[in-house]
Amino acid sequence: MIARLLLLASLLVHSVQAESLSPLGERPDWTVLAPFQETITRAEFVRLLDRVYAPRDAATGLIDVNEERASIVQRLGEPERFTLRFAKDAASAKSPPRYWRAGQPLAGLRVAIDPGHLGGEWAKMEERWFRIGAGVPVAEGDLTLRVAEALAPQLTALGAEVLWVRRAPGPTTPKRVADFFQIARAFLAAQGVANPRETYRSMEEPGRGATVQSQAELLFYRQAEIRHRAHLVNDELKPDLVLCLHFNADAWGDPQRPAFVPKNHFHVLVNGCYSPTELRLDDNRFELLQRLLGGVTDEEHRISTTVATHMARALALPPYIYTRDIAVRVNASPYVWARNLLANRLYRCPVVFLEPYVMNSQELWERVQAGDYEGVRTVAGSARKSLVREYAVAVAEGLTAAMRHR
Ligand SMILES: [Zn+2]
Repeated sequence: MIARLLLLASLLVHSVQAESLSPLGERPDWTVLAPFQETITRAEFVRLLDRVYAPRDAATGLIDVNEERASIVQRLGEPERFTLRFAKDAASAKSPPRYWRAGQPLAGLRVAIDPGHLGGEWAKMEERWFRIGAGVPVAEGDLTLRVAEALAPQLTALGAEVLWVRRAPGPTTPKRVADFFQIARAFLAAQGVANPRETYRSMEEPGRGATVQSQAELLFYRQAEIRHRAHLVNDELKPDLVLCLHFNADAWGDPQRPAFVPKNHFHVLVNGCYSPTELRLDDNRFELLQRLLGGVTDEEHRISTTVATHMARALALPPYIYTRDIAVRVNASPYVWARNLLANRLYRCPVVFLEPYVMNSQELWERVQAGDYEGVRTVAGSARKSLVREYAVAVAEGLTAAMRHR
């Protein structure tokens, strides 16, 4: 689930705006982009910037495109700019450096599976958990891990090399909430919250979000954990593709008495649609360029679109439609949307970020209660595979199709 944003997350961003870096973001080393000189034509750069990464002129004044080069602000408010020289034409464009391989068939493909969120004892803290009465709890981080466990042997059988970003409940980062109390205090002070309370007793407690503990938790599971996964992907696993497995949801309120919503839907996210505010952050701008210049975009769109088409049919779900301008369509598929998430921004290879099912729909709740089973059963009024198997099989079939039709 990524649809629900806490107000405090945006407060966090604003509080570090003076630094022009996102929470826990590192100051970019622009010399890293030197090997990307003359790897892309002006036309291609402008196409990707306008249609995918910075639609609605979001990069105006920050990334300026001239005839032969692009001029990019390195540090907000300072005069130094990074100059990117364009290739004269596609034929003379140099190859960009990258660790992933394009044009690989599924046999031999290095696929990293990234089950979203933490799950286990962490699910309540990350607000990816609800339960009705004595029923089976619905926890996104546990469901995604079960889908991953069902998917991995299928991909292996198809000849892919499966790599794991997370293989057990809990965080991949060795850091813990306590490591972020000091930064959390600094954030709250920057927002003018003098003498904040250190801890809270219950999730429902008024003012919980303004406690040091709550802020430290957000830094831990929403920032540090994703940044550590990006480190695993880019520096250790170096896959050809990452599958980010999620379930969607609408706001459900009290996790002991969740509100059900009637709709159920599906979409797939690719990276893009940076807002003017995000583009003013030095690390966001730098990471956008790393992706754009790394040649990730077209492969990411191609694979995501084929997987989306197959999964939509297999899951029989309508597309989710964004009504706010945080996302934009990148092609004719109603299922594929570009959005700037931390995970798909930091991973420097094609990412297929899956958001099927609404966890707090009546249908999904009933399917979670039914658990895993072989074959087909009638649950919530229709004959289906178990939820986890349906998801896993649909991904495997979609990926098979994507790697076949090139
Ligand atoms: Zn999620």
